[in-house]
Amino acid sequence: MPTVSLYPLRFEPILRRLIWGGRRLGTVLHKPIGEGNDYAESWELSDYRDAVSVVNEGELSGTTLRDLVHHRGREVLGPGLSGRSQFPLLVKFIDAREVLSVQVHPDDEKGKRLAGDNGKTETWVVVDAEPESLIYAGLRPGVTREQFQAAIEDGQVEPLLHRFPARPGDCIMIEAGTVHAIGAGVLLAEIQQMSDATFRVFDWGRVGADGRPRELHITEAMESTDFTRGPVNPLIPAREPAGEGNIREGLSRCPFFALERWRLSRPAVLGQTDRFTILMGMEGCAEVRHEGQRARLAFGQTLLLPAAVGPCEIIPDGEAVVLTCVVP
Ligand SMILES: [Zn+2]
Repeated sequence: MPTVSLYPLRFEPILRRLIWGGRRLGTVLHKPIGEGNDYAESWELSDYRDAVSVVNEGELSGTTLRDLVHHRGREVLGPGLSGRSQFPLLVKFIDAREVLSVQVHPDDEKGKRLAGDNGKTETWVVVDAEPESLIYAGLRPGVTREQFQAAIEDGQVEPLLHRFPARPGDCIMIEAGTVHAIGAGVLLAEIQQMSDATFRVFDWGRVGADGRPRELHITEAMESTDFTRGPVNPLIPAREPAGEGNIREGLSRCPFFALERWRLSRPAVLGQTDRFTILMGMEGCAEVRHEGQRARLAFGQTLLLPAAVGPCEIIPDGEAVVLTCVVP
């Protein structure tokens, strides 16, 4: 069978329904939601257990991301990252109609030991927020393990959490071990390690779809929490001109991923040959050109540029904001 050349790949979103979800994945981001008021997450790129992304455009339609990594890892991931058996990042949009549980994620060592999963460092870029929307990130200064444990037992966790108003464009880095919750009304993009290891400590006294409180994981959470971390605030982007009026902003950077936000008013070239690049449309619309092919990157859409595709020309329709994500 002749091998199909790779191109900018678009995947079918995997929709997750949870009690705190809403409808903005459909009404704002144009994901194919159905009836119901609980569309919580759109997994844009996933190679996690039974949630595996499938190409939905072009000659490779129907091929899974897992198959691409297994059979064409060097071309997809890039020479520097090939040899991995799993795509390293999970990329989502999250619609919090209601506040999410207060939770913490383990690092790699604790994830393996406590959850049989990878660790989970994640980062958020706020897409939209209501005027009163909050983000809870980290514990207030000086909160001790003993105080946190007592607050969990009393159901009084909220006063110990650092919080700030969510603003569109904010980028917040949630390293493994940071206690956090996404507040009601926030719509955001999340880039994270390929993991679902989540330990809930407090669920605001509510019940799940079955009328019972959702499970908490207090022992694991206490073990995973880094009590030296303290409050976490939105990071201040490193802005620099990137030619012809375009602006490049350095956002989160950690061993797992590096994010940049490109504010484009003129064509730009994005993507690399030695590793893959994920593009997310955050505002406006752009066209991604690769050889004779063209792909749209509208607000709310995600494309994977395989390493073998290399740099692509990105032409904004007027103005566009594009997030790029690579493994450093
Ligand atoms: Zn989280």
